[in-house]
Amino acid sequence: MDIRSQISMVFHLDKCIGCHTCSVACKNIWTDRKGAEYMWWNNVETKPGTGYPTKWEDQDIYQGGWEKNGDTVSLKGAGKLKGLKNIFHNPNMPVLDDYYHPWRYKYEDLFTSPEGDDQPIGRAVSLITGEPMEIKAGPNWDDDLGGSPDYARKDTNFKSLSNAEQEAMFQLEKMTMMYLPRICNHCLNPACVASCPSGALYKRGEDGVVLINQERCRAWRMCVTACPYKKTYYNWSSGKSEKCILCYPRLESGQAPACMHSCVGRIRYLGVMLYDADKIHEVASCDEKDLVDKQLDIYLDPNDPKVIEEAKKCGIAESTIKAAQDSPVYKFVKEWEIALPLHPEFRTIPNLFYVPPMLPGMAQVDGDGVYESSSKSLFPSIDENRLPMKYIASLFSAGDTDIVRKVYDKMMAVKVHRRAETVGDLPQDEVKDLMAKAKINGDSANAIYRLTSLATFEERFVIPPAHREESIEMLEATAEFKGENGFGFKERPARGL
Ligand code: SF4
Ligand code: SF4
Repeated sequence: MDIRSQISMVFHLDKCIGCHTCSVACKNIWTDRKGAEYMWWNNVETKPGTGYPTKWEDQDIYQGGWEKNGDTVSLKGAGKLKGLKNIFHNPNMPVLDDYYHPWRYKYEDLFTSPEGDDQPIGRAVSLITGEPMEIKAGPNWDDDLGGSPDYARKDTNFKSLSNAEQEAMFQLEKMTMMYLPRICNHCLNPACVASCPSGALYKRGEDGVVLINQERCRAWRMCVTACPYKKTYYNWSSGKSEKCILCYPRLESGQAPACMHSCVGRIRYLGVMLYDADKIHEVASCDEKDLVDKQLDIYLDPNDPKVIEEAKKCGIAESTIKAAQDSPVYKFVKEWEIALPLHPEFRTIPNLFYVPPMLPGMAQVDGDGVYESSSKSLFPSIDENRLPMKYIASLFSAGDTDIVRKVYDKMMAVKVHRRAETVGDLPQDEVKDLMAKAKINGDSANAIYRLTSLATFEERFVIPPAHREESIEMLEATAEFKGENGFGFKERPARGL
């Protein structure tokens, strides 16, 4: 066993209200510089939709991630040879318009325009060229437009749905949507790291955060192609690639990352997971149907004495093991098994898990406009969810609806159990049956309810103390360089823009 520790995340999608506070918090801290205007290390997409950059999930276009090659995996569109072939023109690279052309408004015109007959306006101008521009897209352009033909219908996840099923979703009375906040997944098998010819990307030993060394980056941009989630970005001003750093300077001082700290819906959880690095190859190259189970298998029980002993031998600090035992991520992912990885079929073994949304949890109204409160109609069956199971499975379980059903069974059991406990109007037998079917007991249901809705800040973010002896970089005053070219980047390159 080669035990390592990884900072992992859970986003509970039923709680996301699509307010974009997370995106704005991140933008104001990390990507408000020249060359980074178009970057949203954290973005929130409306699903169904094409996302940011547009159609990022379609690897026929972008060739990101890994593909299975017999007993092993190889990078789909990046890597040394493939990269060499595309050195002068990489057809799989997203271009600026796939993200969006960043702009600002010329508010100064409102104050400095000469007196005239017409009202001055603040025109939109390009943040890159300064020229007036017509705005055609933005990072959350499809926000809330769940049924719009331009975006929702072009969602890649519809591949697995028949035309009739798709049409049913777009009928006016059935139209629905969900929010999908995304950051870098700090994967266990990061395609971005594997693809870099300069070795500029690396995964930190102490917490698994994936970073780009700004001094080694040589602008090959292989990482941009390789990351199937499109979470590495090219900074046209510095000539370097950049990505989410999981706010590591905040983590090291015990603070939650800014997107998580500011999350209004309190959908975000962060904690340590211990995993067996010896299994990475096996998980990444397994059959598609086993991907989720095998990934769950790689994470170890931090309360198991054998795991604790091995972890200590592997140099993991006791404080980190303690944090793993208290990790909310471990509970959601391993103990309760209600959080799933996004697009596991990309084979990067992502460390950001999502509790899929059950929406809409509607009560039924009878012909007289009175709420039906019998258990059967109070919560509609999971098969009546407006987002079809197949669609959710395409996002979170490589198309396996059984995995999603198990998650939903548990979540429904929690709802019914809590209703029975607090209101007490549901037939006991029915509640028992549902709990048995979902393989969950009252204590677990209460614990899920608590961590989902009542948890304190300290329960949601369990951050182990940083071990300064393990990392020299954290002693450097990174804030000094912020205004220039991003944290940790000290010298401007001689070439480039
Ligand atoms: S999400 Fe993309 S950028 Fe982040 S670690 Fe995984 S492959 Fe790399
Ligand atoms: S701040 Fe939280 S609730 Fe708001 S959009 Fe972001 S993830 Fe969703």
